[in-house]
Amino acid sequence: MKTKKIQDIARKLLKEKKVDVVIGFEKGTLPSSATPCFIRNPDEVDRLIWNSFCGNNLANYLPKRKDKIGIVAKGCDSRSIVVLIQENQIKREQLYIIGIPCDGMTDKNNVLHDYCLICEHKNPVIYDVLVGEKVKENKAQRHPEGLRDTKWQKIEDFEKKSSSDKWKYLESELSKCIRCNACRNACPTCYCKECFIDQEKPRWVGTTNNLSDIIFFHLGRIFHQAGRCTDCGACVRACPMNIDLRQFTQKITKDGETLFDYETGLDIDVKPPFATFKEDDSEDFIK
Ligand code: SF4
Ligand code: SF4
Ligand code: SF4
Repeated sequence: MKTKKIQDIARKLLKEKKVDVVIGFEKGTLPSSATPCFIRNPDEVDRLIWNSFCGNNLANYLPKRKDKIGIVAKGCDSRSIVVLIQENQIKREQLYIIGIPCDGMTDKNNVLHDYCLICEHKNPVIYDVLVGEKVKENKAQRHPEGLRDTKWQKIEDFEKKSSSDKWKYLESELSKCIRCNACRNACPTCYCKECFIDQEKPRWVGTTNNLSDIIFFHLGRIFHQAGRCTDCGACVRACPMNIDLRQFTQKITKDGETLFDYETGLDIDVKPPFATFKEDDSEDFIK
């Protein structure tokens, strides 16, 4: 049903030349998989599909494009689109957003991904057309201090650990990393033409799979996601070593939400915390 509607919208957009390309999903080469596709010809829109394997965050294909684009967007993709518009990586007027209220994405065993279980923005936050009815949003329970219990449970448990235990966990998890960069490549907000890690002049850090180089890379990447990560899970899904990268990005997201009252990618006109400066900031975090 959604597949047919997406195809009809894409055909019309391409025929009327309202967009140059439609970015959506087509059947993957493996069973229970879907893969991103770029449709430029109205005769090819039948390739487009929609199912619970359309997990990639398609906003990943937007930075620096100059053409007019129709793009299929779930809740998390739409929030990444907002971030990219805020960061001048794409203009709103270049986009025709085909919003899809999302029931959650599943792995090949049809099990809902962790991040979908706690997702609070399944409906696209920005769109030009909506395919299907809006779905009911999860609203995580809040505990007395206002933190979101169900959403942050895992992070709050982690925060209770001693510094040495946290470091041990970080080392044990990241020591599995083979520096393939799949997490970086899958992430819509890792769009630098040249990552700080690859820069030659100055060379900030080595690109080996020595543990200190690995940790430096990941800490840099995680901090660069502050106020920008939409918890879309693309990095986790891309990781061939099953590293739980969300353990780290979620901590940054939690701090953004609880310390700065800022949820990523909800409103183009609200400046993210790292893009604002207040002269009267108490800066009480600086000891
Ligand atoms: S996080 Fe999961 S449930 Fe939420 S919009 Fe993205 S894919 Fe859908
Ligand atoms: S860091 Fe991971 S979860 Fe966050 S936006 Fe990038 S790909 Fe998505
Ligand atoms: S995808 Fe996984 S293995 Fe590859 S660089 Fe990222 S964390 Fe390391």
